[in-house]
Amino acid sequence: MSSQTTDLLRLGAAGLARELADGRVSAIEVTRAHLERIEAVDGAVNAFLARNADDALATARGVDDARAAGEQLPPLAGVPIAVKDIACTQGLTTTAGSAILRDWVPPYDATVVRKLRAARMPILGKTNMDEFAMGSSTEHSAFGPAHNPWDLTRIPGGSGGGSAAALAAFEAPLAIGSDTGGSIRQPAAVTGTVGAKPTYGGVSRYGIIALASSLDQIGPCGRSVLDTALLHEVIGGHDPADSTSLNAPVPPVVAAARAADVSGMRVGVVRELSGEGYQPGVRQRFDEAVTVLQAAGAQVVEVSCPHFEYAIAAYYLILPSEASSNLARYDAMRYGLRTFPDGVADPSAEQVMAATREAGFGAEVKRRIILGTYALSSGYYDAYYGQAQKVRTLIARDFEAAFDQVDVLISPTSPTTAFGIGEKIDDPLSMYLQDIATIPANLAGVPGISVPVGLSPDDALPVGLQVLAPALADDRLYSVAAALERDLTTIWGGPLLDRITDLADSDGGDTAVAAPGTQPVARAVDPTRQES
Ligand code: GLN
Repeated sequence: MSSQTTDLLRLGAAGLARELADGRVSAIEVTRAHLERIEAVDGAVNAFLARNADDALATARGVDDARAAGEQLPPLAGVPIAVKDIACTQGLTTTAGSAILRDWVPPYDATVVRKLRAARMPILGKTNMDEFAMGSSTEHSAFGPAHNPWDLTRIPGGSGGGSAAALAAFEAPLAIGSDTGGSIRQPAAVTGTVGAKPTYGGVSRYGIIALASSLDQIGPCGRSVLDTALLHEVIGGHDPADSTSLNAPVPPVVAAARAADVSGMRVGVVRELSGEGYQPGVRQRFDEAVTVLQAAGAQVVEVSCPHFEYAIAAYYLILPSEASSNLARYDAMRYGLRTFPDGVADPSAEQVMAATREAGFGAEVKRRIILGTYALSSGYYDAYYGQAQKVRTLIARDFEAAFDQVDVLISPTSPTTAFGIGEKIDDPLSMYLQDIATIPANLAGVPGISVPVGLSPDDALPVGLQVLAPALADDRLYSVAAALERDLTTIWGGPLLDRITDLADSDGGDTAVAAPGTQPVARAVDPTRQES
């Protein structure tokens, strides 16, 4: 791989946009470099479920022609992007990671995809995910797990592990994710990338395959805070086609990312989200980041959100209830898989439906449909679903009380760094606990972001810090995240780039796997900042 190509891969969205606008590089070259990268490494990473080379190159060619003709182009024109396979793409398969939608080609684009096309961003392909976005590791994909580029034997988080892995492996400079309980933020944390869950309703859900409609939120993913903000502004905004879409201007997230100003900002550390159960190396990096924020002028205090401890329990009643209802549409009649039962001469519609759902849904999806159907059934509705909704209200009130005292809340994004593939797959509860810090934001509809704060000293894997803000104050997330990014030594300058270059120079086979600890790992946090 030539050094020019490697440079194009490393630049990121803001850098690429600048080079493209100045005519130093063409959109075709940029898109081709990423397509070649995917070709070279995705056999090992499995970040993509579908590739979209011809269409991406056609978009890129259109951008180059328009620029040559002197047309005014949108800011990210020619910057390629990967899209989680939960967003409908006209003419391109959309599976939500499920065998029940294998080979399904939507007849229309999701609003978010329409916006990417209007922004003239080449769509590289669709990214791997846990089936119907249920999971925290991308191991529940019907198409095999995605791998974490930091260590291919580990998970890239979930459900949006494909989008995060694509970024971390330099297969794409930007990606779209969806976050129902943490599926943008947790993968960002464990891959050392940035991911934001906007305020509920801030980005249209039209054309997104529904998991739990009152929790689902589409959002931007990148390797830098500014890149993520640039994408946020492309996809955000009101959509009359989505009845839950907010009719409010997109918060000024790009300006906030550029200013990176936290002076005088009141920052609350959530007491319930930083104590026991967090890996020591995660705690250590989090605590260091807190001192960095203080040095940058933030006033840091501890804040209690007493009902957060019930968030997972409430979520795992509300989510399955809504999912069981949303997934009823996969009935073998309208679209997707149709399987006939074995040995039945003249099967009824119910028998075909049962055989299809048996063959087409994976174990986690079945588990949640059963749970949700039970929780909603008459006689149990008040005891389970009704109670969970009350807890949801208490969590929203915790946020209100906290935001009376502080401007933003912070916590580690995930209690641990990336765990090994296969480690938690048979233990749903320990998988669910990965989202202990991210779920409260979905229950309350408030925005959140995860930003890398270094490598954990215990295993040299990335650690993410989560920032949460009141609804419609998404810009505050970017102020804090950008300040941290500026004041911590980047993890992208050293060890990962070397490891990724190894991946790039190899044929992408399994031999490219760098075993944990075999690469020299620099201290990710600038030691001089700690002493100030
Ligand atoms: N891991 C959580 C779950 O399994 C969150 C999923 C998501 O945000 N889509 O439900």
